[in-house]
Amino acid sequence: MKYISTRGHAGQPANPQFCDILLGGLAPDGGLYLPETYPQVTRAELDAWRSLSYAELAFAILSKFITDIPAADLKAICDKTYTADTYRHARAGDDPADITPVRWLEQGRLGLLELSNGPTLAFKDMAMQLLGNLFEYVLDKRGETINILGATSGDTGSAAEYAMRGKHGVRVFMLSPHGKMSAFQRAQMYSLQDDNIHNIAVTGMFDDAQDIVKAVSNDHAFKAKYKIGAVNSINWARVAAQIVYYFKGYFAATGNNDQQVAFCVPSGNFGNICAGHIARQMGLPVAKLILATNENDVLDEFFRSGIYRPRKTAETYVTSSPSMDISKASNFERFVYDLVGRNPEIVASLWKQVDAGGAFDLTSTPHFGRLGDFAFASGRSTHADRLATIRKVYADYATMVDTHTADGLKVAFEQLPSLPADVPLLVLETALPVKFAETIREALDQEPERPADLAGIETLPQRVEVMAPDVEAVKAFIVAHV
Ligand SMILES: *Cc1c(COP(=O)(O)O)cnc(C)c1O
Repeated sequence: MKYISTRGHAGQPANPQFCDILLGGLAPDGGLYLPETYPQVTRAELDAWRSLSYAELAFAILSKFITDIPAADLKAICDKTYTADTYRHARAGDDPADITPVRWLEQGRLGLLELSNGPTLAFKDMAMQLLGNLFEYVLDKRGETINILGATSGDTGSAAEYAMRGKHGVRVFMLSPHGKMSAFQRAQMYSLQDDNIHNIAVTGMFDDAQDIVKAVSNDHAFKAKYKIGAVNSINWARVAAQIVYYFKGYFAATGNNDQQVAFCVPSGNFGNICAGHIARQMGLPVAKLILATNENDVLDEFFRSGIYRPRKTAETYVTSSPSMDISKASNFERFVYDLVGRNPEIVASLWKQVDAGGAFDLTSTPHFGRLGDFAFASGRSTHADRLATIRKVYADYATMVDTHTADGLKVAFEQLPSLPADVPLLVLETALPVKFAETIREALDQEPERPADLAGIETLPQRVEVMAPDVEAVKAFIVAHV
């Protein structure tokens, strides 16, 4: 399988394969990588896949996108990644061996696809754990090393650290805003004692941390000398890994392959739902992909109006579903590439406007009319909606959900009546409630449920370097630790 860039120039080698783009971020022309074509899944394959375990299904799907790793090695990587031990935080009554169990709120009609049973209790573990094993495999093969530099406001950083801890050839330098994460999130990250994991708490905001990462990455000499890499959400391997659970959820929610399913996805950077779009393009029988945002409704606005209007930092709200507090959706370009008929010139010209701080409007173009072909719907929610949804789901279904999943459920309840009665709707559960305890207390006046193995995590010794938001200081820290 060859990869292309959404803006037309995929760089050197001219036709990169999976391993060529695994460790990189953007394509050299500023676009995002996508497979040259989406592999099509036949009815016979769907029938054969229905009974596979998660690891087997991951291998069956990923081997269509990854043709430059020998099959036996890729199989071993999938088997090692998707184990009941790693994804051990399933709710009582759900089987961790399913990796992504479905929990029905209304049997056969409305369910949660549990994606947050991994080590850091958020769906990012689903892809990041695979990424850790793929990085180690490729670096070992090539005798290379990488220093991953990132900024996090919570979920991404911890998922990356738990995926990369103890891996050969990989070091992680993760910047976080000092004192701005929850006590639980701090404990998750800073209690790691692995030699290859470095936490840097910057005395500033998340944006300051992000700016430092950008400044270091723009110093091309430093970046090359110290082999600086990233694991952000535009990484193609993360999107590819996420395709798997759309298939798994479909098989769990339906009785046979004549049925259709719908998914509702709490969205920020359009990474998770982009994988759903690709699963549908591959032939998965998806009736509807419902996108849910919080008050940061850039994407809801697009699917309602055809206008994509990224926000300024000052227009980006701090909400109680913080992992969706984005000003622009970094994976959205992948979908737009398909929407405009896979024409890289059109994408490049649209993003010329976006990258210059502007917006684009498709309403008067033929592309707008094609939006219907992709079966999207959307909605948004507010803090008051989240509180009401958390209360309703707890009262009606005895299930405690986190704030992001609540954004999804709020929109799912709105959309459910318009779905045919034989189409089950799965809401993707993107985090467990314990990660966002403050809002759970506000909604339910009680502490969130906490997996037993994470009891008292806040009291473990922590390892973190507190630093002023200074690019040179961060560079010096990296130099001293490689
Ligand atoms: C990252 C994240 C999201 C948003 O996912 P995208 O792929 O950026 O759309 C939603 N919920 C939680 C809990 C997350 O960590």
